[in-house]
Amino acid sequence: EELYGIKNWGSTYFSISDEGEVLVNPYSDKKSAVSLMDIVSGVKDRGLDMPVLLRFENLLDSQITYLNESFAKAMKSLDYKGTYRGVYPIKVNQQQQVVEEVTKFGQKYHHGLEVGSKPELIAALSHIKDKESCLICNGYKDEEFIDLGLYATKMGFNCFFVIEMPNELDIILERSKILNIKPNIGVRIKLSAKAGGHWTDSGGDRSIFGLNMSQIIEIVDELKEKGMLDSLKLLHYHLGSQIPNIRDIRNAVLEAARVYAELVNEGAAMGYLDLGGGLAIDYDGSSTNYTNSRNYTVEEYCMDVVEAVMRVMDQRDTPHPVIITESGRALVAYYSILLFNVLDVAIFEEYEIPEKLDESLPEQIRNLYEVNKSINHKNIQECYNDALYYRDEIKDMFKHGRISLRDRSFSEKIFWNTIHQIAKAKKKLKFAPPELEDIESAIADIYYCNFSVFQSIPDSWAIDQLFPVMPIHRLLELPKRNAVIADITCDCDGKIDRFIDLHDERSTLPLHELKKEEYYLGIFLVGAYQETLGDLHNLFGDTNVISVRINKDGSFELIKEIQGDSVEDVLSYVEFDVKQMRANFRETAEEAIREGLMTPSDRKEIMLSFDNGLRGYTYYER
Ligand code: PLP
Repeated sequence: EELYGIKNWGSTYFSISDEGEVLVNPYSDKKSAVSLMDIVSGVKDRGLDMPVLLRFENLLDSQITYLNESFAKAMKSLDYKGTYRGVYPIKVNQQQQVVEEVTKFGQKYHHGLEVGSKPELIAALSHIKDKESCLICNGYKDEEFIDLGLYATKMGFNCFFVIEMPNELDIILERSKILNIKPNIGVRIKLSAKAGGHWTDSGGDRSIFGLNMSQIIEIVDELKEKGMLDSLKLLHYHLGSQIPNIRDIRNAVLEAARVYAELVNEGAAMGYLDLGGGLAIDYDGSSTNYTNSRNYTVEEYCMDVVEAVMRVMDQRDTPHPVIITESGRALVAYYSILLFNVLDVAIFEEYEIPEKLDESLPEQIRNLYEVNKSINHKNIQECYNDALYYRDEIKDMFKHGRISLRDRSFSEKIFWNTIHQIAKAKKKLKFAPPELEDIESAIADIYYCNFSVFQSIPDSWAIDQLFPVMPIHRLLELPKRNAVIADITCDCDGKIDRFIDLHDERSTLPLHELKKEEYYLGIFLVGAYQETLGDLHNLFGDTNVISVRINKDGSFELIKEIQGDSVEDVLSYVEFDVKQMRANFRETAEEAIREGLMTPSDRKEIMLSFDNGLRGYTYYER
């Protein structure tokens, strides 16, 4: 548990069993916990291959409950007079099943949806049933978008158009006049507060979205002039996603609450204050304000938000608004786990080198050997520099034909032994020289794994986000290897070589030696943003997706199965005409018959194999 930090990032949901396997535990009691290895067996029995994305509906249910109950508790304890209405931003995970489950599990709390485009609005309208929940329309809105939102309003839904650009107001007013439907209007404000973190460009004066104070006043004036201030009901902002520091959250709420109170003063109907997303996930389990973590709990977030809104409202005698948050990541991150098998390992052994060196070897090799023999913890930087220097000289000599391949190979063994000795000596130091910080990754094994970073964890590649990665079994055995992970795209960016650690991050992951049986790893907390941002790099497509329901008695059901892309599917995504490809290949085979290279019955076998290839999974099939 210590080694992979599962206690810290796993919340109450993930732990390790007495058999050394990762357990999923949505009900926080040992009786109902399910081993991921049992799920893997169920998946294998049904003939599905790795990689597989597992979605646990109970975890989604549990997170929706947790957020809503935490707000309810905060409001009760502070005697807040308004209510809370969460909305789930569809962009965070747009899969139909996710939207369906959010609306299903969210209904008891009137948890609504947030949309930022026409397709998302249409997806929302086809799933939302609860008229007490909110439907927040952000993003650019054309006539079609606005008409749909107005019809939703007519049908009794709490649908709000949030104005992001000044000229949106005119189309909204025009369409509402033509259709004779009174709109609910919100304004998105650019706050001057800005937060730290990876994803926070949405905040601050220079953010791309939202209105500045003078634009908001212009909207108020225009609505006042038209006698429509009773339509202005909501103030919205979004500071950014994954905000690690609670102080940034508090400052933004205070600023927005002040603007809200001013809008009430101006005579706007108001009633709703929408704080956007930003509630962060503790990916590295450090509970700090590091980018991959957060220095607050969900309960503290709710208390701070409610307390800040209340403080401003009470100062101005303004009625407490309905507080909306658009938390996405916090609802769905735990929901999904990516599982895959290890295909192969490149082991970086510590080569043995002889006690004594043959005097006839070239001087540079003997110098390198001397460096190796002189290493101690005080001179590692110097030895490192010298080892690199002599290795380069030896390479140059080889290029100019001055040493043999055998001598060069021997010099490499000395070099890598030297790097191993330096890494060992470094462990004795409190502070390592900066250049040697990542030396372990240079001698780490490479575990080749059956998945694509680009398809399944794009944020790991694009913005260096860290996700917890660990074996899901053999956890009673001490892992003896230090590894980095390579995916099967064969792209040098298709790797994971930074891993979570409580104190910072580390460049290698402890893993077990491969045995005959499959070795499975899991990447956790991948439910938010990863699925739709994934791409088809090297034409590795969507993975198999399986939805799991865990019952209170510890049994589980695989309730839904979505087969991953076939080779044929991914080829058609990039405009290949599969029928034509087949005809072309058949013609090539016919040509080979004409050239006397094979028989017509060979052609039959070859075409069969071509068709099997087209129908197959894009990942490595065992
Ligand atoms: N609301 C808006 C307007 C967003 O752009 C986003 C995403 O960045 C969210 C909500 C969701 O944020 P989070 O996933 O941090 O809760």
